[in-house]
Amino acid sequence: MGPMKKIAIIGLGLIGSSIAHAVRRGHLAKQIAGHDASADVLERARAIGFCDTLHADIGEAVKDAELVILCAPVGAYQSIAQTIAPHLAQGAILSDVGSVKSAVVRDVGPYVPKGVHFIPAHPIAGTEFSGPESGFASLFDGRWAILTPVPGSDPRAVDRLKDFWLGLGSQVDVMDRGHHDLVLAITSHLPHLIAYNIVGTAHDLEKVTEGEVIKYSASGFRDFTRIAASDPTMWRDVFLNNRDAVLEVLGRFNEDLSQLQRAVRNGDGQALFDLFTRTRAIRRAIIDIGQDTAAPNFGRLPFQLYVAPESEEKNKRAQKRTKPAKKSGKKSAAAKKKKIKKPARRRQ
Ligand code: NAP
Repeated sequence: MGPMKKIAIIGLGLIGSSIAHAVRRGHLAKQIAGHDASADVLERARAIGFCDTLHADIGEAVKDAELVILCAPVGAYQSIAQTIAPHLAQGAILSDVGSVKSAVVRDVGPYVPKGVHFIPAHPIAGTEFSGPESGFASLFDGRWAILTPVPGSDPRAVDRLKDFWLGLGSQVDVMDRGHHDLVLAITSHLPHLIAYNIVGTAHDLEKVTEGEVIKYSASGFRDFTRIAASDPTMWRDVFLNNRDAVLEVLGRFNEDLSQLQRAVRNGDGQALFDLFTRTRAIRRAIIDIGQDTAAPNFGRLPFQLYVAPESEEKNKRAQKRTKPAKKSGKKSAAAKKKKIKKPARRRQ
């Protein structure tokens, strides 16, 4: 199948910009049109150049697009769907990347015009960074993309979307949306809730100061802080929109935690050993199927400092601003300002 004539990406953060980069890499579309609600994000996307056209007007962005992908936080989908509906081309595929699927069908479904194929999707790929600078072409390589077609979806359109995600480097699965929400509640949403909670609890501990929590953070805690640094808007919307599935797995989790608490209190070493043996096997299985690295500490060197892509961008921008000063021997105005006014956005 040849490249699409035009695809439109709505929301140009981590996922939207990564899709654009991967579309470019795979020559999957002749035109990549982008829209974001934020003028600042549009400007930064223009500077990076991963879209062919950028539109402040969302209707212009989706006009004549064969594929429209919603890449904004899930809470914004309903109003986006309402606004773009009259501008969608007949025969177009309307899809998304939202981390929950039942709520997306609830919010977007009613606005999809006749003749437009609505096929929700979710790439199981991401990082704790956000914004247009954080995207990269290989984000989806080898990761799963789950499609959750609605009943009556045209199988040819579903195949076309499957091919698209394969072209982005993903493996593709098709699933019922309710099942998706339950699976992701346990594999993604609950771990994030636990991470937010444990980091919050550590921070609140009266007898341990904030300085100590940061200074003596052992690797287990550090790994939780990475997850707990994920975007607050995105994750707020996930928990608001996958409430039932999250509460169900949270109930199970609390029961299991109570059992573990009992084992610790009773000094039941066998129970602890048995559980830890079972969980170690799960980690090995994840490595065996190629979804993570076997290298110690996730492949990080003990004191390797990781520079986030967006920080790198920030540094480059700051360097550019300070360059002329070096030549003249005088400091530029930007260099004189010790702080860069607008720090690159991190998920905090
Ligand atoms: P992100 O980096 O924060 O990007 C989202 C972008 O959407 C931001 O630029 C945001 O602008 C913009 N936006 C907000 N409201 C909008 C609207 N009404 N119309 C157009 N643009 C709007 O977030 P992300 O990580 O890419 O996540 C985007 C989607 O991907 C979410 O639905 C999330 O559930 C899903 N997802 C995320 C991951 C992950 O690990 N991050 C993985 C899989 C799926 P402002 O910043 O100005 O608000």
